[in-house]
Amino acid sequence: MQLLDGKRLAKEIKAEIKAEVDQLLRQGRRAPALAVIMVGDNPASATYVRNKMRSCEQVGFRSVDIHLPEDTAQDELLRVVDELNSDPEIDGFIVQLPLPVHLDEQLIIEHIRPEKDVDGFHPMNLGRTLLGLPAFNPATPKGIVEMLRRYQIDTEGKHVVIAGRSNIVGKPLAAMLVQKASGANATVTVCHSRTKDLANITLQADILVAAIGKPEFITVDMVKPGAVVVDVGINSVPDASRKSGYRLVGDVDFESVSKKASWISPVPGGVGQMTVVALLENTLLAYKKQIYK
Ligand code: NAD
Repeated sequence: MQLLDGKRLAKEIKAEIKAEVDQLLRQGRRAPALAVIMVGDNPASATYVRNKMRSCEQVGFRSVDIHLPEDTAQDELLRVVDELNSDPEIDGFIVQLPLPVHLDEQLIIEHIRPEKDVDGFHPMNLGRTLLGLPAFNPATPKGIVEMLRRYQIDTEGKHVVIAGRSNIVGKPLAAMLVQKASGANATVTVCHSRTKDLANITLQADILVAAIGKPEFITVDMVKPGAVVVDVGINSVPDASRKSGYRLVGDVDFESVSKKASWISPVPGGVGQMTVVALLENTLLAYKKQIYK
């Protein structure tokens, strides 16, 4: 087994981005700028936002952290989105999900200007992703595709089985890998909670992507010998031996599956790291106006 080391790759890509930013600054241009809106105090979201801010700092981006109270009204949030939409000093911004239940997530996402939607969740960007047109691809699938590319794992003609059909991982990843393009050209099967006999399908996967949200759900008997296994899941499970009282595990039983797979991504240190880097890449694309001229 070889490790799909997201941590190592993220470091490498961040160094590349930093070199580009340093050059921009030397030319007297301003640094790319990313804003993150977070509503409420969801602890997992707070950790993700902190990681994003730290990553911006590492590559020399300006980051703006907009933290709004849990009871923020929809109109107020829309007003903040409007402000960022029209702020020429902000290249891209995201609204950290999930939002408190009184807020309409889809409405908020659709209020973001597609040119600044660096999470790639606006229907315009998701639609363009499906069509294979230049778009802000959602960060997690973009990070996975980049991970496979950098490890020279060929997807052409390969059977990719994706467990999970979310709008942020499963569906856009399927759209990206099925494109007639290099780094894609895969035969893609998407499985979900209503799929019958999941193991029968995952066993056919040359590349298996687990994005289910159930700790260690993919077991060794569900994986073909030599398969490439990409673990998207981030689940916290109780662990009395840790100071925090918990530890993070993926959707794949790493211990057993790693003995059968040819490549496998760990949790933490795998796809999560690539997701943050993909967000930075989208922000740089927004800054350079490379998607929408
Ligand atoms: P989600 O939580 O919105 O939905 C889960 C998906 O799993 C659904 O599509 C459902 O149909 C499917 N599913 C549930 N039970 C199943 C079963 N028995 N067999 C097959 N499919 C089943 O999905 P999400 O938002 O894509 O998140 C999935 C996991 O990935 C979570 O653990 C989440 O924390 C993690 N995640 C990680 C990153 C990252 O950067 N690494 C990014 C996004 C999500």
